[in-house]
Amino acid sequence: MHARDLPPVSCGELAAVAEELTIVPMDHPVLWQPARPLAPETFGSPELDRVIASMWRTLDQSDDGVGLAATQVGLPFQIFLVDSGDGDHFGLCNPFYLGLPSFEKLDGIEGCLSIPGFWAHVRRPQARIVGGLSPDGVVQTIHGENFLARILCHETDHLAGHLYTDIMDPQTFSGDQEYARHNLLYRPLVQPPVRNPR
Ligand SMILES: [Zn+2]
Repeated sequence: MHARDLPPVSCGELAAVAEELTIVPMDHPVLWQPARPLAPETFGSPELDRVIASMWRTLDQSDDGVGLAATQVGLPFQIFLVDSGDGDHFGLCNPFYLGLPSFEKLDGIEGCLSIPGFWAHVRRPQARIVGGLSPDGVVQTIHGENFLARILCHETDHLAGHLYTDIMDPQTFSGDQEYARHNLLYRPLVQPPVRNPR
C-alpha cells in the first residue's frame, strides 16, 4: 500500500506517544512498512512538538547518529530528523522525493542506528531534492548534495519501509571490527563520505 493511501496520524495519536523513546530492533515490523503521513491539523501543534522533541533527545543521545526516522523509535509516522554535523539540523514531515538533479551516483559507507555496529557500502545519488513540511507546516524543498543527499535518501527510505541493507553491496556488510579491513579492501572510495550516516 502506498503511504498516501494510509490513514493520517492525528493529534490524539501523537499525544499518546511515550515521552521516552527507544530504538526498536531491526526485525521490528514498523521498520519494514510505509509510515503514515501526518494530518494537516498536527502541524504546529504542541502534540507534534513534543514527539519531535523526544526524537531529538533520542538522536542526541545516540552514538554518532546523523539522522533519525520515526519508524526507528517504533512510530509509523512520516517524520525524520537530520543533524549532519555540517550545519544541517532540521526535522522534516511527510517527505517525498522531488528530483534527481543528476544521474551521478556515489559509493559511501553507511551505518544505521537500527543496525548498530554494522556498516556497508551503499551506492546513492550524488544529489537529491526532497520536499516536505517543517513541523510548523511550512513547505520545504531541500537540495542535498553528497553527504546530505545520502542522509536524505537514507531517512526518506526509512519512512518508505526500507533499510540500507535492501540496496547495499552485500559483500561489504561488516561489523565494527571488520570495518577498517573492508575500508582498505574497497579503496578507492568515491568521495566524499568518510562519516557515517545513521
Ligand atoms: Zn537508518
